[in-house]
Amino acid sequence: MRNECNIIRDLLPLYAEKMVSSDTVVFVEEHLKSCESCRKEYERIKEPQPSQKISGTAPLLKLSRKMKVKKIQTIALTAIFAIALLVSAFAVLSAPIYFPYSEGLVTAEWLDGEGIRLTFDKEVTDFDYTVYDDPDGGDFCYCEIEAWTSLWDKWFSTGKGTLSATVSIQHTKPVIAVYVPNDGSENICIAAYNPNGENQIEKRADCEGTMVLPRLSLGYFLILAAAALIVLTVVWFFTRKKAEVRVWTERIGLYPAAYIISHCIVSGINWASYSLPRDFSLIVFLSILLYSGFLLAHNIWRWKREIRELNP
Ligand SMILES: [Zn+2]
Repeated sequence: MRNECNIIRDLLPLYAEKMVSSDTVVFVEEHLKSCESCRKEYERIKEPQPSQKISGTAPLLKLSRKMKVKKIQTIALTAIFAIALLVSAFAVLSAPIYFPYSEGLVTAEWLDGEGIRLTFDKEVTDFDYTVYDDPDGGDFCYCEIEAWTSLWDKWFSTGKGTLSATVSIQHTKPVIAVYVPNDGSENICIAAYNPNGENQIEKRADCEGTMVLPRLSLGYFLILAAAALIVLTVVWFFTRKKAEVRVWTERIGLYPAAYIISHCIVSGINWASYSLPRDFSLIVFLSILLYSGFLLAHNIWRWKREIRELNP
């Protein structure tokens, strides 16, 4: 009998709107005659709710409108996760793979009146350089050079050729060209030039023992996100009986969760980053995408659970 009641409860809204076949009408009426609880449920459905009296919306119409909204939400959810997947693939494929220094990786040559001509090995698909005065006040400047490739370039880039660039040096100070391996090992002096007369000055040992340290901010943000997630989980655990508080802790807690996942996708399980601006902007972008997806999924899931609770 219990099973039949469930079927009847599912049919009642349609029956009340007279949207069932005549066979079903007979079936429902037969049941209502013999089952008091279903009869009561039918009376309740027939009697418009106070709010519906004002809006004049029939329950079925309301339900179908809600269904439409949920359908749009589900489509949006799929789109968001598809974009997030693309961004993740981009982040992984374009992540810089820095080269350790080797002979011929980069050669530097002095062009009078122009600056330093850098020529890179074929394997190098991207590079960067910065010129700055010796921070210790020495009478020379550094030209720091980084070179890298990426999975994307390794797999798909064909015939980029040899990269080269001319670093224009405005200074009249000697210049020391330094290769930065970005792997925690020391920087390497590859050449030194003096623009004032004597052609090439001796390679100086000034950069020995120096290294570019990775930036640790990402690690701090990761710890912050993990701490927020733990606090919110505790709050959730102790307030889970209060529906309102529980829902809001879930909604807020989804952001640190999205941030941690985004960090792992963009930087792996590394705390340190040698390309902080790139990594951080990608993590923030991806985490916002994932978060909006999680919020939508959370909404849809809550709605489904509500429906299940309405039809026990
Ligand atoms: Zn019944």
